[in-house]
Amino acid sequence: MRVVRKLDELKLIIANYRKESPGKKIGFVPTMGALHKGHLSLLNIAAESCELLICSIFVNPTQFNDSEDLLKYPRTIEEDIKLLEKTSCNILYQPFEEEIYPSRDKKYEIDLEGLDLILEGKFRPGHFDGVAMVVERFFEIVCPDRAFFGEKDFQQLAIIRKMNNIRGLNIDIIGCPIVRSEEGLALSSRNSRLSSSELKDALHIINTLKLGKELSSNSTDAGLILNQMIEYFEKGNLKLEYLEIVDGNDLSPVKEIDDNSYCCVAAYCGDIRLIDNMKLK
Ligand code: AMP
Repeated sequence: MRVVRKLDELKLIIANYRKESPGKKIGFVPTMGALHKGHLSLLNIAAESCELLICSIFVNPTQFNDSEDLLKYPRTIEEDIKLLEKTSCNILYQPFEEEIYPSRDKKYEIDLEGLDLILEGKFRPGHFDGVAMVVERFFEIVCPDRAFFGEKDFQQLAIIRKMNNIRGLNIDIIGCPIVRSEEGLALSSRNSRLSSSELKDALHIINTLKLGKELSSNSTDAGLILNQMIEYFEKGNLKLEYLEIVDGNDLSPVKEIDDNSYCCVAAYCGDIRLIDNMKLK
């Protein structure tokens, strides 16, 4: 695996690859590092349909609405490189911030048609502008055929699909299933900051989602099911931000649960914010 830090070097490698390997696909997996099995699963899925795999590691400052969170975000580049060496990843792009954001004052404009204002957007203002901006910038640099994102960040995936459509980029955006710990906790770089008792407390999220799924096998009344889920959730040690049942395409709240309904949740475990989701049927 080649580690590339300079934008010009990456562009040259990609241009040469395109010239020398017509018809071959470039797959791209953007990450913020502190890699775990969730990230590695994206690379494995990408390897099934792409010949050249590029992974990026960049802790994107513009998507953090909380400066403390940005400061504390885990950074483990040496371990990350070791993990990537064991995958099919061909290139790790680890850019310098100045090359991702050459003109810091230039305002990024995109109309995400409100998709950025619901769920996560209510609690993390500006977060999805930062996400769309950095992913669009990476797409411009890497020009991948396919890009792979985890369903763990369900709303992010929807936002990236929308940005890709709005900008007419024609990149295949592939959603990949959530990877969980044996106990069911959705893997996240932030989990490394949980104490052992918090790791146990955090399982209340998956247990609540499982309850929702179970209840949905007997009823389609989203309001009723949400009430029971919230009542159950409040018995745990976590602080709920939101728990909503939404349509899988536009993320609007649903009244009647159907085959495309998802329950999305965000909660604090101590001072670590966790998100998760589950398809209910
Ligand atoms: P991050 O480094 O947290 O920005 O995540 C990089 C990519 O990995 C995003 O597309 C995430 O949705 C995905 N990802 C993170 N955690 C998981 C997980 N547990 N299962 C599947 N994908 C994940």
